[in-house]
Amino acid sequence: MIGLSDSVWKFAETALKETKSAAILSDYAEKKGFTVQRGVAEMPSAFIATYGSGKPIIGILGEFDALPGLSQKAQTSREALNANAPGHGCGHNMFGAASLGAAVAIKELIAAGKLKGTIRFYGTPAEEDVGGKIYMARAGMFNDLDVCLDWHPDFENKANMQSSQSMVSYMVEFKGKSAHAAADPWNGRSALDGAEFFTHGINYLREHVHPSVRMHYVFKKAGDVPNVVPAEASVWIWLRDSKRSGVAVVEKRMREIAQGAATMAGVESNVRLMSGDYELLINETGARALHSNMELVGPIEYTKEETDFANEIMKQYGGEPKGINGKIKPLEITKTNPDGGSTDVGDVSFIVPEITLLATTAPYESPWHSWVVVACGGMSIGHKGMLFAAKCLSTTMVDLFENEKLRQDMKKEFDQRKGSEVWKAMLPDGPPPVPKQ
Ligand SMILES: [Zn+2]
Repeated sequence: MIGLSDSVWKFAETALKETKSAAILSDYAEKKGFTVQRGVAEMPSAFIATYGSGKPIIGILGEFDALPGLSQKAQTSREALNANAPGHGCGHNMFGAASLGAAVAIKELIAAGKLKGTIRFYGTPAEEDVGGKIYMARAGMFNDLDVCLDWHPDFENKANMQSSQSMVSYMVEFKGKSAHAAADPWNGRSALDGAEFFTHGINYLREHVHPSVRMHYVFKKAGDVPNVVPAEASVWIWLRDSKRSGVAVVEKRMREIAQGAATMAGVESNVRLMSGDYELLINETGARALHSNMELVGPIEYTKEETDFANEIMKQYGGEPKGINGKIKPLEITKTNPDGGSTDVGDVSFIVPEITLLATTAPYESPWHSWVVVACGGMSIGHKGMLFAAKCLSTTMVDLFENEKLRQDMKKEFDQRKGSEVWKAMLPDGPPPVPKQ
């Protein structure tokens, strides 16, 4: 696992370009006896590795995409491994390797006749971008699972009881007419005016949404030079709320604002869906099963060198050194509104009961999506968290294979929590936007 994780850490490939990372993980699975389908859901770096037959079918997710600009050596001071290259600032190098390791452990037990059923590892690309899992979900790849598990690197060890925000990403495009901005501006219609009216409208809308709503945007196109009336402008906007149903309300207002803005500027508008995540549907029954296995595995112990490393890197970053937390946190109460952030695991959690583990791979309260996480993910602090994760996930999967009542109870809770919500992939028609290699 450490070898796989360190290789993926060095490859540091970004969303939908993770071909080497996907290859090393899928080749390893194949070598271990799994049947591997590569390039699923029209993504070259998406794959499914299966072992065993019949029910139950337990799935486990593995991510492996990196973030741009975060390349970093496994040391306490800021220094890129490769200048301006990506780095694993979210720890997905460990995510993929540990989940695969846990799947291999289950495979060994099935092969030895100790467990009956099917284990399936999902290599899920582009979590940081379009959300590869949403495309895999739209293709129906999670439909026959009994339970799905995943984990995420963190600065605490816990069985996750907190949801995530539902979000939706739109490109709002305006089309006007160019003209000389001084000689005949009356002949022009500014697409930029439309874009500005739109963002004004969004900012006025802020007063009239629930406090749990988040709206953030950037201007992607705003004209080229001042002396030409811009014929094209676009705003990339993300809308979030605690639940998909809440996002839908804001989405409708956003569309109306785009239309109104276009009318005011005398231009045309087009609102184009990019992608969107559902909130994470918590399953307390599953979280409890995971939690008891975490206690069985026991907390992570660190050496003095590792604690010194953690404190020094936080100082170098400009944060507060608070050591590393290897303890197992008690099960939390689910908050009404989750903290800010979204994940495409949310979509999977609306199809099949889901369990998420968080495991310490970085100093306490480290800044996520930063070079600190990259550095720790390439040395023993990350390795220890990853091995802990693999043990907790595999022991929990043993329970899921052996205990039919546990699976049934999870399904009952899933049905209750999901209620009447019908899951529908928030994606544009057509294949995922795979960049040319
Ligand atoms: Zn992540």
